[in-house]
Amino acid sequence: MGQNEILFERAQKTIPGGVNSPVRAFRQVGGTPRFVTKAKGPYFWDVEGKRYIDLIMSWGPMIAGHAHPEVVEAVKKAAETSFSYGAPTEGEIELAERICQLVPSIEQVRMVSSGTEATMSALRLARGYTGRDLIIKFEGCYHGHADSLLVKAGSGLLTFADSTQNAPSSGGVPHDLVKHTLVLPYNDVAALEEVFQKQGDQIAAVILEPIAGNMNLIKPSKGFLTAMRSLTSHHGGVLIYDEVMTGFRVALGGAQSLQGITPDLTCLGKVMGGGMPMAAFGGKREIMSKLAPLGNVYQAGTLSGNPVAVAAGLKTLEIVSREGFYECLTGQTEKLMAGLKQAADAASVPFSVDSVGGMFGFYFADKVPASFEEVTKTNIESFKKFFHLMLDQGVYLAPSAYEAGFTSIAHDNAVLDEIIAAAQIAFKKL
Ligand code: PMP
Repeated sequence: MGQNEILFERAQKTIPGGVNSPVRAFRQVGGTPRFVTKAKGPYFWDVEGKRYIDLIMSWGPMIAGHAHPEVVEAVKKAAETSFSYGAPTEGEIELAERICQLVPSIEQVRMVSSGTEATMSALRLARGYTGRDLIIKFEGCYHGHADSLLVKAGSGLLTFADSTQNAPSSGGVPHDLVKHTLVLPYNDVAALEEVFQKQGDQIAAVILEPIAGNMNLIKPSKGFLTAMRSLTSHHGGVLIYDEVMTGFRVALGGAQSLQGITPDLTCLGKVMGGGMPMAAFGGKREIMSKLAPLGNVYQAGTLSGNPVAVAAGLKTLEIVSREGFYECLTGQTEKLMAGLKQAADAASVPFSVDSVGGMFGFYFADKVPASFEEVTKTNIESFKKFFHLMLDQGVYLAPSAYEAGFTSIAHDNAVLDEIIAAAQIAFKKL
């Protein structure tokens, strides 16, 4: 038995399923998760000393590459002055100012420790602000694991649960609660219009992944976004852009800057913490001022605005703000996708690709899917085989066909060439 197997067996004795977050468990693809010992730039090494090219990058945060020396330095410096105070610091203000400057729809921002907290708090705030209960989410979108949002959810829930039922995607979520969550198909303008026509005055919020990344990568149509913006404005509902994944990943101003949409609230996470437990939600001052201590919507956190996480976030945002960062990242990601597509074509494997900034999707299907339903029709068996053929060659892809992939600025041409060469072999063997 190899070291990974030994550790996985040991882990399962004290940690449910051997992992602290379900998708890490390789349940869809089978096999043994890799136990990581260190990472640098585009690579990580497992406990057996094998090197992998990382195409998950901690599920998004590590956009500057693993252990970027400037981020490491900033974190070390912050850590020397204590890990947490539970009192305000100047660093928090700097980070808030930077976020408001980079994402102009955010006039005020509150920091939290995970994407789940950000979306959960944004929803509570939207409900408190409007005095309404109903929320709309979309099939296959994942917004963290708050109860109200675990309905037809993507990511691990899509990988493990039966998401075809119009019921909670998870045990332990009361039916009474999810009756306040309306689930509509992504990219379906008619369904959205119909719901607003019937119940528009009861809808507190629409929450969406503005570029979905938790049912593989799915882009919204322009009509879908503009309908959503005008319907929420017209009916007094709050439009929540969940940019936990897309924020600072698809562009410096997030998906909203590419789409020309101004949401009322935005959730951020992942890149903004540079790999530390850090997330945020923010938006219109009028809405944000309903939060405690100013307003009656309660939200708090012992480690919120943690100084070490703030240091990592600030330095990461400085790096991504440098000239040419997103042009380079986008170009490299497109090059990678083109290389994969070419390799699949050469082996006559039905395959399609898509990407935005440093986020990508590939599909064992002739054409790029536009909805959750279309994603579930892609060839999962081919994906599983491809995943393992790539893993054996030292390329680490997300272990599920229902997840987007991520690159970093450290994925240079030599790294891309290595991935594409591995893919050429893998496609031929499929
Ligand atoms: N929203 C989106 C769009 C996400 O992708 C995720 C995590 N993948 C979350 C929310 C939840 O974030 P966290 O895992 O930090 O709780």
